[in-house]
Amino acid sequence: MFKKILVANRGEIALRIQRACRELGIKAVMVYSEADREAKYVKLAEEAVCIGPASSALSYLNMPAIISAAEVTDAEAIHPGYGFLSENADFAERVEKSGFQFIGPTPESIRIMGDKVSAKQAMIRAGVPCVPGSEGELPDDPVAIRRIAKTVGYPVIIKAAGGGGGRGMRVVHTEAALINAVQMTKAEAGAAFGNPAVYMEKFLQNPRHVEIQIIADKHKNGVYLGERDCSMQRRHQKVLEESPAPGINRKLIERIGERCVAACKKIGYRGAGTFEFLYEDGEFYFIEMNTRVQVEHPVTEMVTGVDIVKTQIMVAAGEKLPFTQRDIVMRGHAIECRVNAEDPYKFTPSPGRVTMWHAPGGPGVRVDSHIYTNYFVPPNYDSMVGKIIVHGDTREQAMARMRTALAETVVEGINTNIPLHRELMVDAKFMAGGTNIHYLEHWLEQHKR
Ligand code: ADP
Repeated sequence: MFKKILVANRGEIALRIQRACRELGIKAVMVYSEADREAKYVKLAEEAVCIGPASSALSYLNMPAIISAAEVTDAEAIHPGYGFLSENADFAERVEKSGFQFIGPTPESIRIMGDKVSAKQAMIRAGVPCVPGSEGELPDDPVAIRRIAKTVGYPVIIKAAGGGGGRGMRVVHTEAALINAVQMTKAEAGAAFGNPAVYMEKFLQNPRHVEIQIIADKHKNGVYLGERDCSMQRRHQKVLEESPAPGINRKLIERIGERCVAACKKIGYRGAGTFEFLYEDGEFYFIEMNTRVQVEHPVTEMVTGVDIVKTQIMVAAGEKLPFTQRDIVMRGHAIECRVNAEDPYKFTPSPGRVTMWHAPGGPGVRVDSHIYTNYFVPPNYDSMVGKIIVHGDTREQAMARMRTALAETVVEGINTNIPLHRELMVDAKFMAGGTNIHYLEHWLEQHKR
């Protein structure tokens, strides 16, 4: 096992990884930008290294600074968390070439999955069901593009192979609008992602977003850790998540989970990963894979009892998975609310000094947050300042616990989206379960203020 790991991230996930290291008896080296000097996980760290100014480009995305920090502190491995460099194959490669273990998959796996066209082709070969669409990258010939769209059937969605974060996509309803849409998406993709390749998929009208968590070791063992329903989204950003996904046939999920594990074996995948699917009319359609730990991993930890971050570290160190598929039993129901420093209805960011922070507690309540009374939320980064996660024997109990937890939470000095979560937890349709990816946007439209 490693003696020392460098945590190449910030905020709640940096704290989460620091906690996992403590439990494993591993020293965690924290890195920080000048804007994060006051972070508690930095102050409480055994070792911490400043890697640059507030701007992420000069700090959390600064590969040489991060690698030198690992060198000077004698760390053996680097945990990238999520966002920043976590899905950057070049970074993973540089980490390994410098003699450190990258806590994640191989650079090759990241590269294959980072290109949505090659990812989809790998999934088709592995027997994972995908959204019907073009076989690969769209050709230039307009006649050929029209022919593909006709076969797929309108509406279609044009997506950038290098896209991410909900950007680089365009829905097309008619043949008249097709060629122009393809050309515009190509131009945007070239400018934004440095890769003009686009592909086509059938546009599913009312899907849910359901994803499968997997984890694999370096000895060809892999398991799936059930699913998460992340359909409550605003502008393709997840707002709250739950596990299990309400009302989906367990046998179907097991079949999809087994396919995901088989796909991992086929591509030699190691570490934690998430297969994202759209789910509509009883069918799963793969859209993309995330080759890192996800924000919403705690709901899976709550229902399976598996510590995903600790397991990531163990398998990176070369250990075998300490469980098999048969050991994984989903118990009860978990819900996570992301707490963002923003106006709850206008969504404008609300950085600044937190004058009061009181976290909820009680049975089945978990809070993953780095903030504290008097903490200053810097304006330079993502607005998420924490996550409230609850577990209950049933979905009803979990929702009741979330309502209690949200009622107890006090944040003063900045705005947060907690009032929105409080409303959603008593919304009849959400309470019934199974809302689709458009539900929250429509809800917000109807509850405009
Ligand atoms: P990104 O990497 O940018 O998040 P994804 O491929 O995961 O891109 O898609 C993001 C979101 O776009 C999905 O969660 C879904 O809301 C929508 N989307 C993507 N593909 C389709 C599709 N074929 N049909 C309907 N909606 C889609």
